[in-house]
Amino acid sequence: MLSIAEVSTKAYVGSKVSIRGWVYRIRSSGGVTFVVVRDSSGIIQCTARKNELPQDVYDEIASLGIESSVEFHGVLKEDKRSPSGYEIAVDSFRVYQKNDVFPITKDQGEEFLLDNRHLWLRSREFTSVLKIRSTIFRAFADFFYENGYYQVQTPFMVSTAVEGGSTLFKVDFFGEPIYLNQSAQFYLETMIYSLEKVFTIAPSFRAEKSRTRRHLTEYWHAEAEVAWIDNNEMMDIEERMIYYIISRVVEENEGDLRMLNRDPEILRAMKPPYPRIRYSEIIRVANSIGLPLKYGDDLGADEERQITMKYDRPIFVTNYPKDLKPFYMPVDPENPGEVLNHDLLAPEGYGEIIGGSQRIWNYDEMIQRIREANLDESAYYWYIDLRKYGSVPHSGFGLGLDRLAMWVMHLDNIREAIPYPRTIRRTKP
Ligand code: ATP
Ligand code: MG
Repeated sequence: MLSIAEVSTKAYVGSKVSIRGWVYRIRSSGGVTFVVVRDSSGIIQCTARKNELPQDVYDEIASLGIESSVEFHGVLKEDKRSPSGYEIAVDSFRVYQKNDVFPITKDQGEEFLLDNRHLWLRSREFTSVLKIRSTIFRAFADFFYENGYYQVQTPFMVSTAVEGGSTLFKVDFFGEPIYLNQSAQFYLETMIYSLEKVFTIAPSFRAEKSRTRRHLTEYWHAEAEVAWIDNNEMMDIEERMIYYIISRVVEENEGDLRMLNRDPEILRAMKPPYPRIRYSEIIRVANSIGLPLKYGDDLGADEERQITMKYDRPIFVTNYPKDLKPFYMPVDPENPGEVLNHDLLAPEGYGEIIGGSQRIWNYDEMIQRIREANLDESAYYWYIDLRKYGSVPHSGFGLGLDRLAMWVMHLDNIREAIPYPRTIRRTKP
């Protein structure tokens, strides 16, 4: 059977067609019932007339509730007044399941919609969100495949922390404490010695206690690690990757962007190169808009929101103070208090979507930094080994796909960018 979008063309006007899907809207007046049906491709109006159908058939159609699953057959007509410009003059139908009242009506609160996410996913808005997410995930992988990278998989149950201990989820592993992975980075680093250019897409888990609009406790993390390149070359790759993903969304999901009131032209205009601004300079920018930050302060979600409101393209922030970043980032030889890193901040108030850096590849420097960070060397033995056997300069990054999706769709909260958000307060449905 054809989809609603496939049927809704001039070629089928005057022919008998069949569609199936769910009742999106229904109203009756003066012996005519208008049923708007949706499927994954779109919507179409199906018109049932009392004087053209057996009484029991007409009554059955007129009594369908929202989200009943149905199949309609009839002749396709052009009709300027119907939502898609086409309608089906119904001559027969089948009901798969008839509902009375669908629990979600237009004006329900946010918590109610979150509790009923399994049903709210069917809304036309969320259908568009899911389609755009699908494009983003695919485009991320395509970009790296097209550039000679290999996709790899890393464990989710781990015994070492990447991003620091405070946001680790502890799991009971046959009586031993282990953790849910916060980043695939260290494992990816082990794989560059066989493959040189690797990427992965996997959930990362972080026990984030802060309630912001951009933190989930389980999110989709897209990470890459590349041999032989430095921090600047890593940024070159990332800006091309971001624009590649944006362009694919604009090409493939223009209708979905419009459904979410996101102007595709704004995205299309975000061409690289993206400005590369040192952390020290960002502090000055922050001060110039009245934020009382001083050198050495971290940028939180709120500061980044205010700073990135000023920009209409993503910006890289480089050269963070060493103390604000993890032990594996090398110091900048020209500015020993700073590291060779980059965060990519999305504009329009969205803030960080990528964290990346060059990685320390010198053995002595790595040992020294592990000690400075008071970490247990023996737990990191395999990570340290990489600096003993054929070590090479390399860089990598982690991109939060839900944050990227949130920004691309211009959503208010990251919860609206993922079908089943996990936050400090929510593990259902
Ligand atoms: P933040 O400062 O916002 O907490 P982070 O510095 O902890 O971010 P990284 O550890 O560099 O982030 O992780 C890489 C990327 O993963 C981030 O740039 C972001 O896009 C995404 N990310 C990190 N934490 C979360 C989270 N709790 N929910 C959703 N995405 C996240
Ligand atoms: Mg964090």
